[in-house]
Amino acid sequence: MAVIIDKAKCIGCGACTVECPFEALDLVDGLAVVDPEKCKDCTKCTKICPGDALSMPERADKPKAKSSEASAEQPVQEKKVVKTAPVAGGDVWSGVWVIVEYLNGNVSGVSWELLGEGRKLADALGCELAAVVTGYQVEHVISEAFAYGAEKVYIADNSVLKDYRTEPYADAIVKLVRKYQPEIILCGATSMGRDVFPAVATQMQTGLTADCTVLEIDPETKLLKMTRPAFGGNIMATIQCRTHRPQMSTVRPRVMAMPERVEGREGTIVREELALNDADYRTKVVEFISATAKSAFLDKAEIIVAVGLGVGSQKNMAVVEELADAIGGTIAGTRGAVESGWISHDQQVGQTGVTVRPKVYIALGISGAIQHLVGMQTSDYIIAVNNDPDAAIFNVANYGIVGDLLQVVPALTAEFKKRLQ
Ligand code: FAD
Repeated sequence: MAVIIDKAKCIGCGACTVECPFEALDLVDGLAVVDPEKCKDCTKCTKICPGDALSMPERADKPKAKSSEASAEQPVQEKKVVKTAPVAGGDVWSGVWVIVEYLNGNVSGVSWELLGEGRKLADALGCELAAVVTGYQVEHVISEAFAYGAEKVYIADNSVLKDYRTEPYADAIVKLVRKYQPEIILCGATSMGRDVFPAVATQMQTGLTADCTVLEIDPETKLLKMTRPAFGGNIMATIQCRTHRPQMSTVRPRVMAMPERVEGREGTIVREELALNDADYRTKVVEFISATAKSAFLDKAEIIVAVGLGVGSQKNMAVVEELADAIGGTIAGTRGAVESGWISHDQQVGQTGVTVRPKVYIALGISGAIQHLVGMQTSDYIIAVNNDPDAAIFNVANYGIVGDLLQVVPALTAEFKKRLQ
């Protein structure tokens, strides 16, 4: 005999799989299944199931085992119990959510970029696109979220969420996820997203794919395909989260295109009064000091002048700086340039640096290694100067100049100065 699973009631939350001391339960295609060989009729799973989907068969000949009896047959391994709230959003995991990053009065642009990407995913699944805003005094963000394409906005406005802290933010998101059960949740791969999303994924016991560059829905399985560079950027790995929900992904700023902002769009607002208590959290924000790092501006720069090892020396940076000054550009570069000490790590573009998407990216003496390209190849216009006609940077460049940058750059600067006067 084994536990009976009512598949119509199972919401695929996985709580029973965690609770079962005998590892008799698993999730297959998002629904609980039992291995009758392993099930000991201990009834633990029936008590934890939030949807009352699990029950024990009636047996006259064998009294149901208490958990203490079960432990006599086989040692019970204590496992952490994940309690899920009753389902308020329906019986299935449904909908695409974007966590809107709101800090110190500003919404991070990547949140709107993800609403644009979320729209495509929601259309492919035929489901709703929602924005989730957590913070304090965040009412004004609602209309912006609608303008960028959200159909619904979940808002958790709470003084405990005034300053970003991992625990209360993770708690707030987890409470909403447990209650409304979105199928997919997306967040920017920013300092906040990289911090809070793993905490959410751990509490939800689901998978998280970080730093995705492509997101799409598999037309057959309807699963989210999350693609990201792997093995030092040499291959692109496509990852799926098949049996746990929600499917979670972070995406770096500027990787996805900014959607059109349509003023006056409207949608549904869901206000959540979350029971968050400051005394429950171990951290307190004493002071907020704004970042002055150059990378804080790099991902917003419209013109970037990037340097590689081809610049040759610190002395030659003067030529580059003159060009940047002439056109109002921000200086960035490759890891090679960082390691040579010509620019700081904040200015590194690429896999282990910043992702940028300026209107113009001028690459000077940069070979075009994949680890650099992943951070800049979606720039609107790429202009490359390199003395090697076969350099890989020319494969992504809109305009390529083959020549010695020490001759080409001063000529460009002089011409720009003339035209911009
Ligand atoms: P090089 O590859 O040495 O290229 C110099 C280029 O300058 C050459 O094409 C040469 O033809 C040209 N040149 C030389 N002299 C002149 C001249 N006078 N005029 C014009 N052209 C000239 N790199 C990054 O940039 N960002 C990252 O985030 C990053 N992350 C990495 C992560 C990992 C795990 C690994 C393994 C590597 C990473 N790298 C990263 C390093 C990357 O693989 C390359 O080594 C690096 O991008 C090369 O930098 P470069 O183009 O400046 O130098």
